[in-house]
Parts: sequence; C-alpha cells; structure tokens
Amino acid sequence: MIEQLANTVSAGRRISAAEALELYRHAPTHLLGRLADGIRARKHPDRIVTYIIDRNVNYTNVCVARCNFCAFYRPVGSAEGYVLGFEEIFRKIDETIAVGGNQLLLQGGHNPDLPMAWYEDLFRAVKSRYPEFKLHALSPPEVLHISRINQIPVRDVIARLIAAGLDSIPGGGAEVLVDRVRKLLNCYGKASADEWLDVMRQAHRAGLRTTATMMYGTVETDEERIEHMMRLRDLQDETGGFTAFITWSYQPEHTERGGTEATGIDYLRTLALARIVLDNFDNLQASWVTQGGKVGQLSLAFGANDMGSVMIEENVVRAAGAAYCMDEVEIVMNVEDAGFIPKRRNMHYEILGDPIFRERDVPRMLALGRAREDGDTSVPEELSQYPARSRSGKQLRLAQ
Ligand code: SF4
Repeated sequence: MIEQLANTVSAGRRISAAEALELYRHAPTHLLGRLADGIRARKHPDRIVTYIIDRNVNYTNVCVARCNFCAFYRPVGSAEGYVLGFEEIFRKIDETIAVGGNQLLLQGGHNPDLPMAWYEDLFRAVKSRYPEFKLHALSPPEVLHISRINQIPVRDVIARLIAAGLDSIPGGGAEVLVDRVRKLLNCYGKASADEWLDVMRQAHRAGLRTTATMMYGTVETDEERIEHMMRLRDLQDETGGFTAFITWSYQPEHTERGGTEATGIDYLRTLALARIVLDNFDNLQASWVTQGGKVGQLSLAFGANDMGSVMIEENVVRAAGAAYCMDEVEIVMNVEDAGFIPKRRNMHYEILGDPIFRERDVPRMLALGRAREDGDTSVPEELSQYPARSRSGKQLRLAQ
C-alpha cells in the first residue's frame, strides 16, 4: 500500500484524505522526506531557496478572543496592554528599511478600542510616508473582528483596507480549520473554519494574495490535520490566491492550555505531508522560528523551499517560549550549507536579488526587536481621536 502510494505521489498524482492518512501514519520518515523533496524539486528545479526581509510588528496585545493556546494577549484594561503609536510604527519601518526590508507583517490582538478608522488612518499614513513599502496585514480573525465591531460586511472591510493601503493578508489565526478543535482551543468564537476560509475567499476575489498556516500539536487528531490541509487545497483550487503554506507547532509555555511541544520529527513529517497533499501550493516555508535553525535547515529536505522571514522583531511565539533568532547572514549560511542558492523575495515570491549584506553594509540584527520595552506603558497621543468601546478604554481616553 505504502509503495503504491509512493508511486502515485512520485507520478505527480493527487492523493485523497484517506491516502494522506495512510502515508502519515505508516510511511517511514525518510520516505515522506524523499517524496516531499521530489515535489519541491519539480516545482523549484533551480535549487533557489527564498526568504524575505520584513518585520513582524504586533500593533496591540489587547485581545478579547482569549484563545487558550496564546501567551501573548492581555485582557482589556490590563496594565500590560499596549497599542503602538503611529510614530513607533514609523520608527520600526525605518529600522526595517535600514536592514534591507520592504514589508511589515502587521498583526495584533482583537482590541475593541480600535475602530476601523484607526486601521485606515494608519495604513494611509504608512503609504504616504513610504509609498513603496508593503503592508502584509491583518489575519482573517482580525478582519472579522473589525467587521463585527464596526458592523461592516467583510467584503467592504477588505475593500476599504485595500483603498487605505493593504497589500496582502497573512494566514494567521487558522490554527486547525476544524470546528471541534477550534471550540476546544477557544478560538471558534473569533472565527469558525468556514469564516476563516471565507475571509480568504473574499480577499482572493478582491485581488489580494494571502498565505495559509497551520498550528498543530494541541488537541487535533491526525485526521483533523489532514482535513485542514484538504480545506486549504479546495479553496486554492477555487481561487488560486494562496502564495504559500506555513506550519508550526504549538508553543506551550505561559499559555492557559499548557502541555508539551511536538517533536522535530513530528514537524518534519507534517511539513512533508503538507508538501504532498497541497499539490496546488507553490511555496512552503520552513518554520525555523519555532523549530530552530537546524530543523529549519532540514526542512529544505522535507519539502520547504523558503526560509520565511529574516527575524527583526518577534513577540508572539517568544511570549510562549520560542526564542530562535537568525539574521540574514545566518539564514544565508544555513541555506548555502544545505546546498541551495539563497535569494531575497517579496510577498509574491518574486526574486528581488542576492543577499543584501553582500550588496551593501547593513547592520546585523543579533538581538530581536520587541513591540515595546518592558515597563513602557505609554499611550499614543493619537488614540484620543478615536472612540473607545470598552469602559477602561473610555476612561483612558478621557484621562488623555
Ligand atoms: S491568538 Fe490572537 S486572537 Fe487569540 S488570544 Fe492571542 S492575540 Fe488574541
């Protein structure tokens, strides 16, 4: 059976959910790797491994969703809650441009005190200062949150955000796209599986490209991991709007859920299976931020063709215990040592050039930036222009 399936995959034919489960459960790890690597080589015969220089900025940690796997959020009214000011965000963009970056990955909590106008004004302000700079922003649950609190249909939220400067949508907040799992993780309320997929459908129809993710290793079964991949594959058949798939394991430290982290082998098997199942996705990222540089490097033999983002700032998985950091020099070294050719890309996976540090002097980023320095509780001045919804938000704005 496994041999037959291996032949099916090697011949470039699509496999069913039942066949994927058989492979996942019973194929030896080296075989899964070989099959995934074969697909990677067919799709990317030039041995190029890409990466992007961008900055992962979390504009607020205040969140009403309270997912039980999340160590990042703070409840409304918490003294540790923050919203970044526009000037702070501009400073982060300046630092990103200085190291050769061209994009912000901008995501945050579901903060009830940020109305639609705050996002539009921010995007417009970024685009007027930095017209070429890209905004890869607001995962589907954030788009839904904005839609709900402003009572504006998702399609119109997306259209308004595009008009303000949104370039693409990151695939965060997918976790596992099965409602049984989402209910157990307390993330069904922020977005059901259908709602997450529908935001992406609407974004693709509006002409945006997006990524897709999976966070595995909590309560899901093997069948549910595969169901997640199948649902992504179906939507990709329908719209073709996904540029890439990224999977990482649940990071348990400091979370309400707790538990243990999946192993590196589990990661490599899951990645390889995704490469096999997601035959209509061109790009798979290696998640070295959660797995470390060495497993990240091994990912290139298990189906990945992209090293994701050169980390300049990270707040979310660091809050949950993952602390791996690589700058461009280290990413390039890992890619070359694995026998591949590193190239910089943009969000659309268009090649921008060779490593920037070989073209000009750039500061090395050996310490990761963070959203805010510890103990910084400053409230940005411009927030007082926007109406708050929560009682604590209203009080704070009155006090300004
Ligand atoms: S994962 Fe996102 S939506 Fe869920 S609690 Fe954390 S910040 Fe909020």
